[in-house]
Amino acid sequence: MLKRLGITSLLLAAVTGFVLWFVNAKPVRVMGDASTMRIVTTNSILEDMTEQVVGSRAEVYSIVPRGQDPHEYEPKPSDAQATAAADLIFHNGLKLETGGNGWFTKLVANAGKRDGKEVFAASEGVTARYVNGDKQSPDPHAWLDIANGIRYIKNITAAVIDKDPAHAKEYQANADAYIAKLTKLDQAAKKQFADIPAAKKLLVTSEGAFQYFSAAYDLTPTFIWAINTESQGTPEQLRTVLAKIDDSDVPVLFVETSVSKKAMQKVSQESGKPIYATLFTDSLAKKGQDGDTYLTMMQWNLSHIHEGLAQ
Ligand SMILES: [Zn+2]
Repeated sequence: MLKRLGITSLLLAAVTGFVLWFVNAKPVRVMGDASTMRIVTTNSILEDMTEQVVGSRAEVYSIVPRGQDPHEYEPKPSDAQATAAADLIFHNGLKLETGGNGWFTKLVANAGKRDGKEVFAASEGVTARYVNGDKQSPDPHAWLDIANGIRYIKNITAAVIDKDPAHAKEYQANADAYIAKLTKLDQAAKKQFADIPAAKKLLVTSEGAFQYFSAAYDLTPTFIWAINTESQGTPEQLRTVLAKIDDSDVPVLFVETSVSKKAMQKVSQESGKPIYATLFTDSLAKKGQDGDTYLTMMQWNLSHIHEGLAQ
């Protein structure tokens, strides 16, 4: 009897123990395991650059949805949660996310994340250009020159390796492979526009996002408004851009995916020049569509701008 009782209580203890273990069991996040590194990026261009470097070793969460303007944004509760849980946070810098309503500054402050510890500007080290020559207003669109995009990828890679040195070789190899493809495109693009007469080489867009791009690929940037946080398409802005178009032989106009097309449609009506294509500036295309990576976005822009101006 005693023996049987002993066995029964042993069994009972075992069953109770199992039930307690089962109830308490949760997926365990192993600290230092790089496969669970969490990275937040402010936009889809930085998201792609980061994903190219980390492969499947990190979860990448991107804040501003594809097709939306990153200058002005209202973070959602899910953005705040992801930012608070992030090991690394990449933003563009050059006041892209901290001009206007300054949404990014508030977001990282609330999450208790620090510059240089978790928070890094991908544009660090890039030579800035300025909006209307005003040194207080850097033009944030540095990535539209591929040479700068490569600097972004190098900065992202350095921060990732610093967080997870155990996989440094893998990250570096991924980065090198992406940079090799981008270098090839950049070199081809630099020669591409030589066959177009100077009077046609006006790149007309809504936002003045193409300063870096135009300097790299030998075009003259012409725009309705300087930056997306300003008033967009005022009568004076329209008059100014129409005068520049009139003074040139530019055959076509362009519009960007992340702005309203209304103002450029007005310019097209008034000037009689067609809108040739939609370009990517501040956002990639939705995943699975043409232009859904930084490389294919730049390929798209370069080939459509060349085709359009060669008309
Ligand atoms: Zn922009």
